[in-house]
Amino acid sequence: MTDKLNSAQAIALENKYGAHNYHPLPVVISKGEGVYVWDAEGKRYYDFLSAYSAVNQGHCHPKIIGALNEQAQKLTLTSRAFYNDMLGKQEKYMSELFGFDKLLPMNTGAEAVETAIKLTRKWAYEVKGISEDKATIIVCDGNFHGRTTTIISFSNDPEARDNFGPYTPGFVKIEYNNLKALEQALEATENVAGFLVEPIQGEAGVYVPSEGYLTKAKELCEKYDVLFIADEVQTGIARTGKLLAVDHENVKPDILIMGKALSGGVYPISGVMANDAIMNVIKPGQHGSTFGGNPLAAAVVMAALEVIQEEKLAENAEKLGHLFRSEMNKLVDKYDLLKSVRGKGLLNAILINDTEESETAWNICLKLRDNGLLAKPTHGNIIRFAPPLVMNEEQLMECVAIIDKSFGEF
Ligand SMILES: *Cc1c(COP(=O)(O)O)cnc(C)c1O
Repeated sequence: MTDKLNSAQAIALENKYGAHNYHPLPVVISKGEGVYVWDAEGKRYYDFLSAYSAVNQGHCHPKIIGALNEQAQKLTLTSRAFYNDMLGKQEKYMSELFGFDKLLPMNTGAEAVETAIKLTRKWAYEVKGISEDKATIIVCDGNFHGRTTTIISFSNDPEARDNFGPYTPGFVKIEYNNLKALEQALEATENVAGFLVEPIQGEAGVYVPSEGYLTKAKELCEKYDVLFIADEVQTGIARTGKLLAVDHENVKPDILIMGKALSGGVYPISGVMANDAIMNVIKPGQHGSTFGGNPLAAAVVMAALEVIQEEKLAENAEKLGHLFRSEMNKLVDKYDLLKSVRGKGLLNAILINDTEESETAWNICLKLRDNGLLAKPTHGNIIRFAPPLVMNEEQLMECVAIIDKSFGEF
């Protein structure tokens, strides 16, 4: 088990002994530092996925790893059967940073979304006064909120959904980035409790809604006494050039969902934030998680969020994002294969001139890999580009050159 595997051996083991629930790009990563990862043979790559935006702070950030190591020597898990001396500090820290009364800590993004759904339903029955089992949550076409049975029930991706039924009821879907559709749904649907939305749809292909969409959507939710629930699992923690993507429009969600980069990719940590009027509907015994709120996670979260602020990663994402899109627009003019670029901060995607079912984006990613940059298609014709936010301008320009070269060779 301690023998060092080469790439072919590592891939063969996963294929034989692992469930085939992913289709990874053929590259085996064995080390990471900052914006770089190295494969089993020692070749270096720029990471342009950042573990789906979990590694915003860069791979193995010394401050976060330091906090992990230090806390791991002292105490890792108590369960919530007892208090621990770290969770309260994390809760206070996050409450002050994000501006909510309370945090409910969980582990994965999907768990945090589930938590938000449960919280919304309970609020609907106990505060809004919706009658039993009638609460409805409005969601958007093209959403990605995770992989649990309830969450895939309101996905419209057949891959995520098919043959996993029966599905959880209580959700209605509307078109994303369509305020009329939202108002109609709020008007026509009885017993609406919440509107669950990604401020930018990441998995759908970095689909950025029109300016003002979030503001107006929040206003509509207020008008109909419906909770505005922002899933910032991918867009949050400085990725889009602000601490949260909703900050671009100064929108304050009623329920905020975070995960991924909350730990800098070091440890699975997620959380839901809300004010007392909502959060207090959950009482002892009504929701929980063995690992949620553990002291190791608390140490990691506080270090990961300090890194974001100390290193001004939101500002860096904003600045480099503009540069990246302007450089990509030059390539769009240069290559017919490239249709357009879109995104915010360092959450971007390029659209390829081909069909959604084509293999073109995949083949381009293989070419990028050969040239030292790792990215992954979100669809057959869309590639997401999301490097760690600790990147500098010189490194970004080197990446632009790799992308240019790869398209040139394609
Ligand atoms: C990744 C993601 C999730 C799910 O997070 P997991 O940790 O994979 O369960 C939920 N919502 C959004 C927007 C995501 O990008």
